[in-house]
Amino acid sequence: MKVSVDPDKCQGHGRCMMYDTEIFECDDLGYAHIRGDGTVPEADREEVWFASLNCPEQAITVDESA
Ligand code: SF4
Repeated sequence: MKVSVDPDKCQGHGRCMMYDTEIFECDDLGYAHIRGDGTVPEADREEVWFASLNCPEQAITVDESA
């Protein structure tokens, strides 16, 4: 499973970072980025899905096939 953030959609609300700081981090302007290559460890799957479903800009994409 992989996750990505679309920088054109992200508005820096920071909600995703409330769910999982192991996966999501923010830059100096508050916009979200993915740590590493986006591979989601098994233990983080649920939090990543919550973050994706609660992103107000629908900027987070989860790929279950990766
Ligand atoms: S919740 Fe969505 S819009 Fe907000 S910082 Fe995270 S990816 Fe960006």
